[in-house]
Order: sequence, then C-alpha cells, then structure tokens
Amino acid sequence: MNVLTIDLEEWFHVVYDSDEAEWGNKESRILRNADFVLESLTTNNLKATFFTLGWIARQYPDLVKKIHEAGFEIGSHSDTHRAAYKFSKSGFKADVKRSVESLEALTGEKIRSFRAPYFSLNKFIAHYIEALVENGIEIDSSICPIETRYGGYKEFPFNEPCLIKSNGIAIKEFPLNTVNIFNKRTIYSGGGYFRLLPLLLTKALIKQQPYNMTYFHPHDFDRAQPPANLPMLSDIRRRVGAAAAGNKFRKLLSTFDFVDIYASDKLTNWDNAPVLTL
Ligand SMILES: [Zn+2]
Repeated sequence: MNVLTIDLEEWFHVVYDSDEAEWGNKESRILRNADFVLESLTTNNLKATFFTLGWIARQYPDLVKKIHEAGFEIGSHSDTHRAAYKFSKSGFKADVKRSVESLEALTGEKIRSFRAPYFSLNKFIAHYIEALVENGIEIDSSICPIETRYGGYKEFPFNEPCLIKSNGIAIKEFPLNTVNIFNKRTIYSGGGYFRLLPLLLTKALIKQQPYNMTYFHPHDFDRAQPPANLPMLSDIRRRVGAAAAGNKFRKLLSTFDFVDIYASDKLTNWDNAPVLTL
C-alpha cells in the first residue's frame, strides 16, 4: 500500500517558529505550486490527501474548494504550522479546532484526518491524542519514527498502520515508514529526502516495502522560491533538489499505484493491526 499525501502550505511555513505577522509580506507561491501538484495527480489519475493549514483555508478559500471539488480528501495540517509540542494541551486543542472549523466551513464535510507540522507528535503523544479525538479526528499521520531536528518519536514500535490507545480512546495511525540504509534507520519518502535521493533508489525502496507513506509539499517542486531568513546551510537544505524534483515527482506518480488516506483506511484490516497502548 502506497499512500500519497500533500502538506498544503506556503514555502515560508517551513521556517521553524516563523512569525505569522510577517506572512502577509512574503511572496505567495501556493497557487502556482499547488496547480503543478494537482495537474500531476490528474494526469496520472491519482488521488491524494491534502493536509491543509487552517491559515491556508482562510487566505485561499477558492484553492481549497477547488481541490476538494476535484475529489481530493482534505485533512488538517494544524492551523498555523506550529509544532504540537510548542502548545499546552488546551492550546493544541484550540489550534486543531480552529483549523478543522476553517476547513469544514469550506468543504461542508467532516475533517477526519490530521498531520502535525514537522511530524511533531512525540512520545508524549497521549496529551495530544485526546485533543485530536475531541475535535473529531479519527486518523493521524504525524509520527516520524526516527530522531529528527524537530524531535521525532524514535521509540515508536511499528512500521505500518496501527492503532494508538490511551485512556479509553483510540486513533488510527499511519506513521512515516523507515528502511535501514548502511545500518541506519532512515525515512526516504518525501520532502528533502525525496529531493536529495536518486529516483532509482526511491523507486527501489518503495517497491521493497509493503507500506509506504509519502509526504510532499507544493514548494518541494518550486525552483524559484525566494530565500528564507535562515542560516545559509538551513536555507540550502530547504531548497536543495527543487529544480529536478518536479520531473522526479511526475515519474514516480507514473510508476506506482498510490492511494489517499481515505482509501488506505478502507484497505487496512484494523482488526489485525498492531496496537500501541500508552
Ligand atoms: Zn508542514
């Protein structure tokens, strides 16, 4: 099962802790970048889930409506792209609520799935599962099971869809999946990893794994995005490989069958899925 997901955000949202008050002064590139992604999906007759910021829904309602009306599933990517662990429990709940309400107002449908910015649900996840469930979220895809610059959840035990149970509630989890390369556990299926790795290697890894969770962003394919206010190395890392990534993306989409979260949920036998009890 190969799951295709897009995190619908602007190029400047990846700047960790960036100030929302400055976003209005930044060059907007989401419309053209999202069009590239939509066209690539439509050409290959594929569905994907768009994890969308509440902020994007309020700034670009026509874009989100267009994606939804074209038959793509809309999930939440939080409201303003802050890492989950930056919030108190009640602050996180309010952030998810605002995002879900903004998205549901546009789609007229219940938002069922969620991805935290920076895959920022960590081993203290119990605090957040409750807030997600209380906001009507049934499916989460926020766990990166290796250590990252933003934390990660390296103790996470499963490399496949699973259930997370805590305090009498449960959520379905579609984590990022890992492989071992040179004895090192790593992710490979989206963002900077996709931009940097040769396409042949990415394809071989996808073919090898029974479950692949991908994560792309419209700005992954934008060779002309402006420099961000970041240390030089971080800014290079943010944009490296973007020039070639568009072609790679289209080739990848024409090679494999991908499904969205909605279909992945139906394809998963939840009665036999592993369970993590917190
Ligand atoms: Zn994001």
